[in-house]
Amino acid sequence: NIRVRFCPSPTGNPHVGLVRTALFNWAFARHNQGTMVFRIEDTDAARDSEESYRQLLDSLRWLGLDWDEGPEIGGPHAPYRQSQRMDIYKDVADKLVAGGYAYPCYCTTEELDERREAARAAGRPSGYDGHCRDLTEERKAAYEAEGRTPIVRFRMPDEPITFTDLVRGELTFTPENVPDYGILRANGAPLYTLVNPVDDALMEITHVLRGEDLLSSTPRQIALYKALIELGVAKEIPAFGHLPYVMGEGNKKLSKRDPQASLNLYRERGFLPEGLLNYLSLLGWSFSADQDLFTIPEMVERFDIADVNANPARFDLKKAESINADHIRRLDVKAFAEACEPWLRAPHAPWAPEDFDRAAWEAVAPHAQTRLTVLSDITANVDFLFLPEPVSDQASWDKAMKGEPAALLTTAREKLDAADWSDPESLKNAVLAAGEAHGLKLGKAQAPVRVAVTGRTVGLPLFESLEILGKEKTLARIDAALA
Ligand code: GLU
Repeated sequence: NIRVRFCPSPTGNPHVGLVRTALFNWAFARHNQGTMVFRIEDTDAARDSEESYRQLLDSLRWLGLDWDEGPEIGGPHAPYRQSQRMDIYKDVADKLVAGGYAYPCYCTTEELDERREAARAAGRPSGYDGHCRDLTEERKAAYEAEGRTPIVRFRMPDEPITFTDLVRGELTFTPENVPDYGILRANGAPLYTLVNPVDDALMEITHVLRGEDLLSSTPRQIALYKALIELGVAKEIPAFGHLPYVMGEGNKKLSKRDPQASLNLYRERGFLPEGLLNYLSLLGWSFSADQDLFTIPEMVERFDIADVNANPARFDLKKAESINADHIRRLDVKAFAEACEPWLRAPHAPWAPEDFDRAAWEAVAPHAQTRLTVLSDITANVDFLFLPEPVSDQASWDKAMKGEPAALLTTAREKLDAADWSDPESLKNAVLAAGEAHGLKLGKAQAPVRVAVTGRTVGLPLFESLEILGKEKTLARIDAALA
C-alpha cells in the first residue's frame, strides 16, 4: 500500500511551490489507490502560526486536494500535528543516544565557527569535524561542570550513501559532504532533521516526494532511518523523489516571498482550482506532448512519478492565465454563473445589492464566459448592468469620442429608438445605419455608443449587452452623453 505525505510547516501564506508538492503527492496517491497523509510540521513555535495552519487546511480544501489521514479527520497515527508529538521525539532521541547512534555535542557556536574557518583556510571540508563523537565520560563531566548544555548530534556512517531518486536516478553522497548533524537543540527541542524522518517512519510513509531544496537532507534521513530500523522504530526506508525547482522572473528560483508565488493571490483573482492545478501540474510534469489542457481526474489517471522531469520548471503567468481561461470556458454556464457569485457581491462589486438583477446576470453570463481570463474580471464586464450610471472613465471617453460623436450619437439614438429590441441583430443594424449616415464603419460607429452606455471602450458583445440593459436605460444613457 502506497503512503505519501504532505507535511508543510505553517509559516506565512501558502505558495504555489507548496501546492505543486501537495498536488504531485496527492495525484500519486490517488493514481495508486494509496493513502494521502497530511501532517503539520509545527515544531518551530517562533515561526509557526495558527493563522497559517488554518490557511493551509482551507487552501487544500479549496483546491480539492483531500487527505485520508491528518488534521481534523485523524487516523491511525494521530496526532498529525508535530507540536502534539513531542514526547515521541524525546523518546526516539533517547533511544538513539542510548544505542550510540547519536551523541551529546558540547561545542559552542564560537568554537564551531572558528574551526570551520580554519578548515576552510586549509582547504579541508568545513562541516562538523566530529569533535564530540567519542568523548570520554570524564570529558563530558568536565564540559557539564563548565556549565555547557549539549545539543544532540546524529553520527553519520563513514561510508557513502547511495539511493535511487525517483526523479533523478542514482545519487551518491560521500561522508565529507554529509557531516554529523544536530537533532535536538540544547534546550531539548527536536529539529526538523529528527522529527520529519521519525514521523515518516512511524506513519509508514513509502514515498517521499518533495522539493529539490530538500535533497541534501535525504542522505541524513536515510542514515537515520537505518538507525531507526535497527532500533525497531522503522520498518523500511521510503523511496525518495525530488521535484524540480520552480523558476520565476529573471530565471531566479521562485521564492515564497515572491508576490507571484502566493496562492491567495490566484484565489482572489478568481483562478478556478482546476485551472490552477492544471497549470501547476505542468511544472515538472507533462500530460502528453501535444496537450496542456486537462481535467484533474485525467491528470490522476496518467500521473506517474517516473515521468517527472529533473530540470527546473519555469513559472509562466501568461500560460497559467490562458489555461485558466480555457477551464472557465469548459464550465457549464450554470456552474460558471455560480463560480462568479463572489465577484458579484461586495466587497468586489461596486453596486448596491438591491441593484443586482439576477435575470440580467443570467442573460449576460454566457457572453461573459468566453471572455474571462480570471473570474474577478467579471465585475468590470457587467457593472454597466447594475450601476445606476456607467463608470465614467475620462480616458475611454476621450478615446471613443474623438472627432465629433454628437451627430453620430444623435442618429444612433434615433435608429435605436426605432429598432426591434428583442433582436440584437436589429440593434446592430441601427448602429450600422447611423455609421453609414456619417461615413463611419461599424467599429468606429459603435465605439461612442459603447462608451456612452457602458463607460468603457472594450467589453462584452455590444448589441447583446444593449438588449440586456434594455431600451429605456440605453437611450437615457445616450441622452446623458449628449447633454
Ligand atoms: N516541513 C517541511 C517543509 O515545509 C517538509 C519537508 C519535507 O517534505 O520533508 O519544508
